[in-house]
Amino acid sequence: MAHKSNSKKPVKKGHPTEYFDYVGDDLCVDGTLSIQKIIQKTGTPTYIYSAQAMLQPLRELQDALANLPHLICFAVKSNSNLHVLKLMAVAGAGMDLVSSGELKRALKAGVDPQKIVFSGVGKTRDEMREGIQAGILSFNVESIPELELLNEVARDLGVVAPVALRFNPDVDAKTHPYISTGLKKNKFGLDRSEILSVVENLKKKKLAFISLKGISIHIGSQILELSPLKDSFVRLRKLVDQIEKVLPGALEFVDLGGGIGITYDREKPLPIAKYAEAIQETFGEKAGLKRPLRIILEPGRSLVGNAGVLVTEVLFRKVRNSRDFLIVDAAMNDLMRPALYGSFHAVVPAQKKKSQGATRTTDIVGPVCESSDCFASGRKLSKRIQPGDHLAILSAGAYGFSMSSSYNTRPRPPEVLVENGTFRMIRRRETHEDLLAAEENL
Ligand code: PLP
Repeated sequence: MAHKSNSKKPVKKGHPTEYFDYVGDDLCVDGTLSIQKIIQKTGTPTYIYSAQAMLQPLRELQDALANLPHLICFAVKSNSNLHVLKLMAVAGAGMDLVSSGELKRALKAGVDPQKIVFSGVGKTRDEMREGIQAGILSFNVESIPELELLNEVARDLGVVAPVALRFNPDVDAKTHPYISTGLKKNKFGLDRSEILSVVENLKKKKLAFISLKGISIHIGSQILELSPLKDSFVRLRKLVDQIEKVLPGALEFVDLGGGIGITYDREKPLPIAKYAEAIQETFGEKAGLKRPLRIILEPGRSLVGNAGVLVTEVLFRKVRNSRDFLIVDAAMNDLMRPALYGSFHAVVPAQKKKSQGATRTTDIVGPVCESSDCFASGRKLSKRIQPGDHLAILSAGAYGFSMSSSYNTRPRPPEVLVENGTFRMIRRRETHEDLLAAEENL
C-alpha cells in the first residue's frame, strides 16, 4: 500500500522527535505523513520507520571518513528487516552480522558478500562453512578454539578463511553493564598476548587455512563519551604496530565496531565529527601508518535507533490514588528494552487533544503478567488520554522489532517504512497460524 503526502523539513537534529514530530495536533513521520493515517491501515501495535532518518546518519559517517578507505557495516542485529538492509546496502553500506540467519538476510537483501563481516563469540561449524561459501570479507574471531575450528572448516573446503581477530582492549565503555563488551571480564575478544601469539603462529605457517586481514574491536553499545572509544583506538593502534613488526603488510583493515549512543531522553550523543576526528587521529592520513588501513565501522543503534517508533493503542485507564496505569496493546514481547535494561523511551500521543487538560502521573504498561512489562513509569501525561487513543513509543528503531518475541503467543507487530512521503508495509503482522505452524500436528 502507498499513500502520498506533501513534504516538510525535519528539525531538532539527533532528537527522538527529529523525524517524528507534530504537524498541528498530529504526530507525523518526516513532517509529512500522520501516524494516525498509517495505523488506520495497519492497526496496532505497529513499528513505523523513516527511511530518511536511517540514511542521514549513514551519510554523515560516510562523509566524515571520505578521505580514508572505509566501509560502514550496518549491525544487522539492530534492525534486520530485509527492506531496511536493502536501503542501507543501496546507500553503500556493508553488513556486520552474527548468525547464519542474518547472513541469509544480508544476501537476500542483495548485499555484496565482500562487504560482510561475521561477528559473534559462538559461531558454529555450519555458520563458518556458510560464511566461507558466501565469500564474506571477514570473520571477526573471538577465541583461539574458534580460530582453530575455522582453520579446520576452511581446510576441509580447500580454501583460506579471511579473519580479523577481535581485540578486547580492557576499556570501560561507561554504559549499561549488559551492553558493555570491552572489559577483560567480558566474554568478548582476545587479549593482546593471545593475539600476538596467534600472529607468531601465523608467521610460522601454523593455521595454514587462516589469512589474517584485520583486527577488530567493539567495546559496547549506547556509548556517550569519547574517551573510552579514543582509549580503545589508541590501544588498538599499538597492537596494529606490534603486529606490523611480525607480519609486515598483512593487515588490510581495522574494524572499530559500533557503539555510538543516541538520545533517548536527554543524553547528548557524540558528534559524528568528534568521533571521526578520533579515528583520523589514530588511523588517518597523518597518524604515521606505513600504508593506509581501511576503516570498517559497525554502527547499529546510531543509524536506526531514532528512525523508528512503536505505535500502540490505549486499552484501559486504571485509576489509582498515587498514579494511573494506561494499559496498552503493545507489550514487553514487542519492545524488550525497558524490561531488559530498564531503559527510557519517550512516549507521546499520536494525536494531541485540542485541550490537554490536567496531567496525571502515569505508568504505561502492557498486558503481560510481568511487572517488568512497563514501557514508561511516572510520566506526566494528560488525564484526557483514554481508551482508543494512540501513543507512540519513540526511539524504537534499534533493538526493537529485532529483539521481539511471541511470548504469551502474541503475534509480532508489522513494520512500516516511510519513504518519500509514502508508506509501505515491509513486514506484515504475524498471525496465530504463523505462530503455531512450526509445532507438530496434534
Ligand atoms: N558490532 C558488534 C560486534 C556488536 O555486538 C554490536 C552490538 O552490540 C554492534 C556492532 C552494534 O552496536 P551499536 O548498535 O551500539 O552501534
